[in-house]
Amino acid sequence: MDGNDEQERCRRLLREIPRISCDIKVLQDHGRNTFELEKSLEEKIEELSELTRKIHSVGKEQGLLLVVSAPSGTGKTTLCKQLLKMVRDLRFSISHTTRAPRRGEKNGRDYHFITKQEFKDKIDRGEFVEWAENYGNFYGTSFQEIRYSLDKDMDILLDVDPRGARAIKEKYTNGTFVFILPPSIDILRKRLTGRGSEKDDMIKIRLNKAMDEIKEVVWYDYVIFNETIQSSVDMLRSIYIAERNKRTRLMEKIQNLMNNRRYY
Ligand code: ADP
Ligand code: 5GP
Repeated sequence: MDGNDEQERCRRLLREIPRISCDIKVLQDHGRNTFELEKSLEEKIEELSELTRKIHSVGKEQGLLLVVSAPSGTGKTTLCKQLLKMVRDLRFSISHTTRAPRRGEKNGRDYHFITKQEFKDKIDRGEFVEWAENYGNFYGTSFQEIRYSLDKDMDILLDVDPRGARAIKEKYTNGTFVFILPPSIDILRKRLTGRGSEKDDMIKIRLNKAMDEIKEVVWYDYVIFNETIQSSVDMLRSIYIAERNKRTRLMEKIQNLMNNRRYY
């Protein structure tokens, strides 16, 4: 049964239940046995409350979980930062990492920069939704980070590699998953070199890893080829807006509107 079928079934039950109650009353007044009808009434009431619970919880508005992945150097950080500037209600999920901060990066804003021992302690305490080792450093998303936003019905943006994204998809099936691709591998190499934060051998490692990561694109919801920053940011923002306005996310509002209807 999809959402529409469930609504229709609810409406039918709302018509049937008072009718059966009336029938029971009439039959009882005539001294007849109403055992079967009473049983059926109970079942219908139970079904109605079950459906109502389902409709309300499925449609309950909650923060949007937007996960963005890309091979390193594609431009993911650049695009995510632009999106965050444009969308005030979107909060960035700050990962933990053991890598050293790059020029301009700030602890507690770009990452929580921690030591390997601190990271290991967090793994042991089960604090991470997922974690991965990338290029000799550890990266992880904490449960606390996601819960903080979703519990407050706030939207959250996660920048994680495909392995992390897959692990998040298993736990947060309603999330939206976007994969950003470079226009070509040659351009990816140029962007990695141009960023100037990695040595030549590290760039080679990142390029080889990119070829493996690109295969993961098959299970993502959306793909953006990062040609120009402006067009890619537009696409990312459009995806966010479209996802925000999905009917299934707005059921509570729609329900309120329907409940308050009046006929003129
Ligand atoms: P990632 O977070 O995916 O590793 P970055 O956002 O750090 O990648 O971008 C890598 C480099 O590419 C940066 O120097 C950035 O300024 C540049 N860059 C990002 N997007 C584009 C684009 N569309 N065109 C040209 N350069 C870009
Ligand atoms: P960078 O060192 O370039 O910031 O990140 C390297 C890679 O680690 C990127 O692909 C980035 O998306 C990924 N990454 C960042 N945070 C996390 C995280 O919390 N979990 C996982 N699995 N990957 C992350």
